[in-house]
Amino acid sequence: MNKGKFYITTAIPYVNAAPHIGFALEAVQGDVMARYSRQKGVDTYLLTGADENSLKNVKAAEEAGVSTQHLCDTYAKEFADLKSILNFSYNYFFRSSSKKNHWPGVQKLWKLAEKDIFKKPYKGLYCVGCELFYTKNELIDGKCPEHKTKVELVSEENYFFKLSKYESQLKELIKSDELKIVPQERKNEVLGFINQGLEDFSISRSVKRAKGWGVEVPGDSKQIMYVWFDALGIYLTGIGYGTDEKKFKKWWPANIHLIGKGILRFHAVYWPAILLSAGLPLPKSIYVHGYLTVEGEKISKSVGNVTHPNELVDKYGRDPVRYFLLKDIPFGNDGDFSIERFEEVYNADLANGLGNLVSRVSKLLEINNVDAGSIKRTTKKFSPELEHAIENLKFNEALNFIWENIRAVDLYIEKERPWEISDLGIKVVLETLVNRIEEIAFDLKPFLPETSEKITKQFSGPKIKSEKPLFPRIK
Ligand SMILES: [Zn+2]
Repeated sequence: MNKGKFYITTAIPYVNAAPHIGFALEAVQGDVMARYSRQKGVDTYLLTGADENSLKNVKAAEEAGVSTQHLCDTYAKEFADLKSILNFSYNYFFRSSSKKNHWPGVQKLWKLAEKDIFKKPYKGLYCVGCELFYTKNELIDGKCPEHKTKVELVSEENYFFKLSKYESQLKELIKSDELKIVPQERKNEVLGFINQGLEDFSISRSVKRAKGWGVEVPGDSKQIMYVWFDALGIYLTGIGYGTDEKKFKKWWPANIHLIGKGILRFHAVYWPAILLSAGLPLPKSIYVHGYLTVEGEKISKSVGNVTHPNELVDKYGRDPVRYFLLKDIPFGNDGDFSIERFEEVYNADLANGLGNLVSRVSKLLEINNVDAGSIKRTTKKFSPELEHAIENLKFNEALNFIWENIRAVDLYIEKERPWEISDLGIKVVLETLVNRIEEIAFDLKPFLPETSEKITKQFSGPKIKSEKPLFPRIK
């Protein structure tokens, strides 16, 4: 991570329903990277927002009997509220229905790519859920492989983008890691997709099919941009493209696009091709996380296992939810959330591990009537192992390092037996303990910001006292 700047984006979710724990996973991962980078003193920008111009939103609004704008306003707010619910420290929550902030930039992008854009009549099988055309043999029993729903036969004249033209260039950029895709498995998947041959793809739809919702194609009021063309453009318009060139120049290219595996093709193939066509620099890397299931099942309304982060946070607190998502689901892998597993991890690592150590040490300091001001403090910084783990988004490994440290401090106490030593010797032991605890709080800051702050406050005195347990045991 260089000292210059760090621009990271989460995917920009459709806001046709309230956020569930699957998006919370991505939000928390992005948040750790942003907080870590800020803690290192790097100028940082974390972008998230709402992808509002999709047909999905139009359909959800029709079903709910409200206007599309009203539906977007309602759910966009719920996504934006993750700031306080999860301590999701985004710099900007961008909404693509904003004509003022979004349209000028994506229309500019379209015009710059115009040499690769052409119009042709087209017939295809479309899944509104995916906002994607499928070929017949990609379908399973004639249905969308992702949603298991019927696809629509669409027949109209649309604008197309010459994706095929960029096939070999994309392959080279990805192979050489100039556009880095992590993990390796996802990189291979993209290369495999490109190797099958890239086809030009439709980037607009008729105003009628779009129901008048979305960004107008420049110079053709009868066509609306394909939602992915405008949604990917949020990564540019969200930092001022088309409205604030100075801001845009400061932040682009993105250091990391953080996404789920389901939208890899759009980010690793369509998006860089559009940027190449427009003559804009490519993002540096795309990090791809897996899917989260709940109690072993795909998260879905029909299964009835949709878990909302606010409900968990109300019951267990913010940091335990963050901890579970970061610790129990190694980046890039699929993972499962269940209350049973959650409570098991909570009790073992938070109530017993961290919480127990903090209360043990603070009691020792209280008994010995220690003035916080009399303790000589060491300078705190991240260890190279921890930095390496975080910078590669290996959050579970990073947390393992911190918990090894927690265990080491416990062992230190067992070895030194401070309750048995004389006045003179105990000062050194207590000073060591305060510094070790503060080191742990420092390392935890990107992961568990609230807990880190509580510990730091507790140990900054004036007297260091024991307080209520940080994480009461769940029975
Ligand atoms: Zn689908």
